[in-house]
Amino acid sequence: MTRDAVVIGGGHNGLVAAAYLARAGLQVEVLERRDIVGGACVTEELWPGVRASPGAYTLSLLRAEIVRDLDLRRHGLHVEVHEPYLFAPFPDGRKVVTWSDRARTCEQLERDWSRADADGYRDFAARWSEAARRARPLMLEPPDRERWLDAVGPGILDGAIADELAGIPSEQVRVPLAIQGLIGTLAGPSDPGTAFVGFYHELGEAAGPPGAWGYARGGMGAVTAALRSAAEAAGARVRVESPVERVLVEDGRAVGVVVEGGEELRARAVLSNADPLRTARLAGVPEPDGWRQSGPVVKVMLLLDGLPDFPSWPGREPWRGAIDIGYSLADLEAAAADARAGRPARRPWIEAACQTATDDSLAPPGRHVVSLFCQCFPADADAGAAADAAVARLAEACPGLPDRIVDRLALGPRELEERFGIAGGHIFHGEMLPGQVLEQRCEARGFGRVERLYLCGSGAHPGGAVTGAPGYLAARAALSDLGRE
Ligand SMILES: Cc1cc2nc3c(=O)[nH]c(=O)nc-3n(C[C@H](O)[C@H](O)[C@H](O)COP(=O)(O)OP(=O)(O)OC[C@H]3O[C@@H](n4cnc5c(N)ncnc54)[C@H](O)[C@@H]3O)c2cc1C
Repeated sequence: MTRDAVVIGGGHNGLVAAAYLARAGLQVEVLERRDIVGGACVTEELWPGVRASPGAYTLSLLRAEIVRDLDLRRHGLHVEVHEPYLFAPFPDGRKVVTWSDRARTCEQLERDWSRADADGYRDFAARWSEAARRARPLMLEPPDRERWLDAVGPGILDGAIADELAGIPSEQVRVPLAIQGLIGTLAGPSDPGTAFVGFYHELGEAAGPPGAWGYARGGMGAVTAALRSAAEAAGARVRVESPVERVLVEDGRAVGVVVEGGEELRARAVLSNADPLRTARLAGVPEPDGWRQSGPVVKVMLLLDGLPDFPSWPGREPWRGAIDIGYSLADLEAAAADARAGRPARRPWIEAACQTATDDSLAPPGRHVVSLFCQCFPADADAGAAADAAVARLAEACPGLPDRIVDRLALGPRELEERFGIAGGHIFHGEMLPGQVLEQRCEARGFGRVERLYLCGSGAHPGGAVTGAPGYLAARAALSDLGRE
């Protein structure tokens, strides 16, 4: 029997692709290696009765069109904006707070810093919001550098985040905004391409107001549970514990896959949600030339017996948003330089998040989970040592933290690779710096010059994070090739 399509991997993009293919009437089978779907977008029971998201933790970039088309709300997805947007506490007792509402952020900055900082932020935010409005429709279009350049201009597309923020006088105000440009890179704020990484994080529309970030009730696994439900409702078959061993290629065309154990599934199209390096291995083709996929992140999950106070903002409210620890632009540059030299950052930067502060469905009363997204580390980082360094760093602004820790789980690049099946443990299946975005990001169609093999994961345009866009674009390409547009 020949199916219309098989999808290797049930990450969020594989599920999006499967849902669109099935909705078009195709017979689709998703094969996931783990015993759960979701890839890096999951909720797992990390301690008895305590569920949390060890991969992605906050949602914004999932395309509104996908949420609508697949009716994800009906399939159980409920997203709430997290406020504050960003909270950056400093060891000197000062703080930077931003909100999803720009006007509220300006008022806050004027109160806590100066009128000039509020004005600088207002100009920066207005410029980026306008560019984001023009760029959002391009997220569901095949790569086209010229159109992106027209929409956002050369500074955002190729420049450094430090330059984009130069109009904000106080360095400390610039720090949490600069961090957004460094995600998934071994770059510092002065490096080219970091403006685009930051800007990409502004392109969201899933949490409500444009650019806002939010929590999916029940953790990030709620996103992929809704996608699975939508795909199955449309007729797709989803199989877990089914690792694909190789892609069957005959006369330069993908004709199916072999599952570990030898089962052969033939199909008219093969979509791979695995990263580019793993997909190349499965298909027996060369890796994409020069592709950089070495993960710089250590993710630490802390189980706490209560939420400590930040001296700069006591109480629970600061725990409701993303908490950015960087302290100075020089520290951010030094962290990247350390990791590029193969050393763990002595002063890593961190984005912390605590969904249990707003979602009581995840842990029993009195228990909280704080996740620490920590950069910059080399691929062979000792995750335990990195966790120690990160906790010490956060404790400079939150001295009560260490005494609240009951247990922890530390996932370095090697552990992320093992858990999520991403070669090198790279959060985006590859850096999103120049050379690996837009025209250079992997083409969905004809991966490795194999006909009817489509890359449908984050290594394909437009890139990483929970967007659904690569899955959508690969499904569209496959549908057109199969004559089902
Ligand atoms: C620690 C961390 C934090 C992050 N934080 C955020 C965040 O807060 N917000 C955000 O938007 N993004 C975040 N990201 C990025 C985001 O999670 C990823 O870019 C996204 O989830 C990738 O989705 P995907 O579907 O492309 O691939 P994946 O999620 O990697 O899914 C690929 C799937 O393929 C499966 N697979 C691989 N090989 C095989 C095989 N041979 N056979 C069968 N199955 C196979 C894997 O098991 C996996 O399920 C984070 C990522 C990490 C790791």
